[in-house]
Amino acid sequence: MDTEIIIAGGGLVGNAIAIALAQGGIKVVVIDPLPREQQVAAAFDGRTSAISSGSVRILNHMGVWKHIAADSQPIHDIRVCDQDKAGFVHYSDKDVGEPFGYIIENGVIRRGLYMGLEGEPNITVIQDKVVDYSTTATSATAVLESGKSITAPLLIAADGRFSKLRDKAAIPHRVISYDQTAIVCVIEHEHPHEGLALEKFYPSGPFALLPLVPTQAGVNRSGVVWTEHDNDAPKFVALSDEEFNAELQRRVGEAADNYWGKVKAVGKRFAYPLKLMHADTFIAHRFVLVGDAAHGVHPIAGQGVNLGYRDVAVLTELLLGQRKLGLDLGAESVLKHYQRWRRFDSMTMTAGTDILNRLFSNRSRSLSLARRAGMVAVNHMPPLKKYFMKHAMGLVGDLPRMMQDDKAA
Ligand SMILES: Cc1cc2nc3c(=O)[nH]c(=O)nc-3n(C[C@H](O)[C@H](O)[C@H](O)COP(=O)(O)OP(=O)(O)OC[C@H]3O[C@@H](n4cnc5c(N)ncnc54)[C@H](O)[C@@H]3O)c2cc1C
Repeated sequence: MDTEIIIAGGGLVGNAIAIALAQGGIKVVVIDPLPREQQVAAAFDGRTSAISSGSVRILNHMGVWKHIAADSQPIHDIRVCDQDKAGFVHYSDKDVGEPFGYIIENGVIRRGLYMGLEGEPNITVIQDKVVDYSTTATSATAVLESGKSITAPLLIAADGRFSKLRDKAAIPHRVISYDQTAIVCVIEHEHPHEGLALEKFYPSGPFALLPLVPTQAGVNRSGVVWTEHDNDAPKFVALSDEEFNAELQRRVGEAADNYWGKVKAVGKRFAYPLKLMHADTFIAHRFVLVGDAAHGVHPIAGQGVNLGYRDVAVLTELLLGQRKLGLDLGAESVLKHYQRWRRFDSMTMTAGTDILNRLFSNRSRSLSLARRAGMVAVNHMPPLKKYFMKHAMGLVGDLPRMMQDDKAA
């Protein structure tokens, strides 16, 4: 064996599980074709992520949160409304006693993870691509583009939504295309956001404003996720600065009575076509899927990477337990346990975000009346509201140990 665990993919989830396992004393090799400088460059990933308080516990547990905290904006309030403002739900963190989570630029999370990787003696990082793999009764061997191969008792595939390794493992998966593209950018705005996140629903899909930490010069900033149909999105992305800002201003101004004041997009505009992907199984012989390779959900509720971090916490707990007993890290029993633990959460979140998107992104008058009534009802039912909040914070169900303490932040 060359190492104890091979991790294919060093993205937001792959690097996290590498750190968690290495800190528990397991030797890992992380393989990703993209150089570190590219992954943290501003032009690489324009997304801002809502990181739930449950995920903060996980990042804190692995010592990564301290590298990220200063650039993380707590979410104090969430307002969800329909285009015409008739009904809305307002969630306040006062009702749960802690911020719902934090809005963080993906570049900041990636940098924090790299700081966590650094100096960790149990981690070897290889810049290469896994192009194939094979297994024997006792091992998995990853074949790299460079021609090298690496053998270990277990191969973890963290290679994203379009995972080639999932295909190599012949794991069937469902894909639903939403005919929606998320236009993503950062805006500067006149008034402070005070930690308010807004999600407003148009027939083409959700329009979200996500509060970010101000610049060092004190300029107010928020992240934008603006959903349009696939055919329309490129037209908006290609608008001149003036036209793009006017479109943004119209949407932001209409929302919550011009709460943000005058807005201006800064930096690059990104476009992400939205698809649902769910693997029929998360495991194969000496092989396991984590993160988007296992489940890619609609970003309507900001839950994709949070699901991935829960995969990390559960798989780490099971593998460290296995190692403590001197048992095989790639044993079928431990992989089956992981699958049992993670499938319910992942399937309910995938289905839930899918239903939410279908319910809100349409022009149907009857659905519009139903969702308005639903929002008014939820807004007036504190226990139900609290349950939804705890769910979004990732704090319900059978929590792994890394999520049980709340010494974070
Ligand atoms: C518009 C948008 C907004 C979002 N907002 C949120 C949010 O607010 N909150 C949230 O929780 N989630 C959000 N998400 C989801 C989140 O971004 C994903 O869940 C997350 O990026 C998944 O991380 P990952 O590491 O599993 O996969 P990826 O980020 O796709 O990383 C995969 C890695 O694997 C590498 N790789 C690929 N193939 C190979 C190979 N053959 N060999 C080796 N390495 C390979 C790639 O180079 C890459 O580094 C959003 C998604 C979108 C599209």
